[in-house]
Amino acid sequence: MASTRDASAARTESGAAPRRVSLIGATGSIGKSTIDLLLRNPHSFTVVALAAGRDHAELARLALLLRPEFVAIRDESGFEPLRDALAGTNIQVGAGREAVIEAATRDADLLVSAIVGAAGVEPTHAALELGRDVALANKECLVCAGGPFMRAARAAGARLLPMDSEHNAIFQALGGADPATIEKMILTASGGPFRTWSKEAIDKATVAEALNHPNWSMGPKITTDSASMMNKGLELIEAHHLFGVPAEKLDVVVHPQSIVHGLVTFGDGAVTAGMAVPDMRVPIAHCLGFPERLAAPTPRLDLAAIGTLTFERPDYERFPALKLALGALAAGGALPTVLNAANEIAVEAFLAGKIAFGAMARHVGAALEAAQKNGEAREPATVAEALAVDHITRERCRAVLATA
Ligand code: NAD
Ligand code: MG
Repeated sequence: MASTRDASAARTESGAAPRRVSLIGATGSIGKSTIDLLLRNPHSFTVVALAAGRDHAELARLALLLRPEFVAIRDESGFEPLRDALAGTNIQVGAGREAVIEAATRDADLLVSAIVGAAGVEPTHAALELGRDVALANKECLVCAGGPFMRAARAAGARLLPMDSEHNAIFQALGGADPATIEKMILTASGGPFRTWSKEAIDKATVAEALNHPNWSMGPKITTDSASMMNKGLELIEAHHLFGVPAEKLDVVVHPQSIVHGLVTFGDGAVTAGMAVPDMRVPIAHCLGFPERLAAPTPRLDLAAIGTLTFERPDYERFPALKLALGALAAGGALPTVLNAANEIAVEAFLAGKIAFGAMARHVGAALEAAQKNGEAREPATVAEALAVDHITRERCRAVLATA
């Protein structure tokens, strides 16, 4: 691929060659924020490939704006309309599972991994195996297959940059310190829309209420996870793998203003924090520019205007999903994989109006018990093993839901 690299090697004003970036999950919330930054810094980036799930019209629109070499749509029925929309350009088009993997693995300097759910595991892992640096928004990858992922990255010399806001804040708060030397790593949680609600009210919450997040505008799956606080549970498991810290060193504090995103406590009692307005373009810009700093048009933090930052302990009784995730993290093995798969199915069912909000955690709890009872809790050694556990769990959860 040397020729394509040379062709795009126009120099930026600073003299550096543009960074070659691919983006999977281009039509989603993270995808859009990433594209906003890419378009504002046209001399700094060349877009190599884009991929999305179903929305071929939006993917075509983005491709015409960004002019990548290749676009991939997972849903094969999107192939023809996508190809037709891009006729007359020299953008190559692919569809299906292999095409998404191709988008993730084309020769680039950085892959932004922003597909939602375990659907991101295969393409992201394929890029890591090639030694590609990955900016990881997709936390489900590390919950589903954290061990194999981190081993693949180490073996190939690929860098995993945390794009999730808490992990990005912690990465910056570490300031290059070895995570093994720290005392505590604290992720903040906004508490979501139900922070002050009773358990009974949360159990019966509607889809509209769950999707009404106070601080962040995100895709429906992560917004639902934020309302149940499963999101924070997934993020604890994500942090465990990303930074290699044991569960005992990880903690959560509820911080409704979402200004402090993550904190690190060192052995001398010093605490460093990562702070910013709640806008994903801040961590995305950090990953896109790393190790330099990119200009991002985000509102600047004005602490005096905010006035008060508050912090509370999480309530595991009203937010049982967080307790389930902590249990899966402590038990290890395949339980985080099961937790993630069961949660994806439960969230899908909740969003489709099939189950109550409170039923999601009960389904996940039952799936964890079933996996233990059936002897499926052994640690997956490879991504293929993790995906097999993911598959069995989904089938079992779907069967349970069908008879409910
Ligand atoms: P979203 O639902 O807005 O977008 C998901 C994207 O993935 C879309 O482009 C969709 O087309 C694509 N997609 C879905 N299934 C696919 C498949 N099988 N193959 C290929 N593409 C597929 O989600 P989002 O809010 O942008 O979140 C994306 C990821 O980033 C999630 O893992 C989420 O947890 C994480 N994240 C999001 C935010 C946020 O602010 N949105 C913050 C932190 C982390
Ligand atoms: Mg987060």
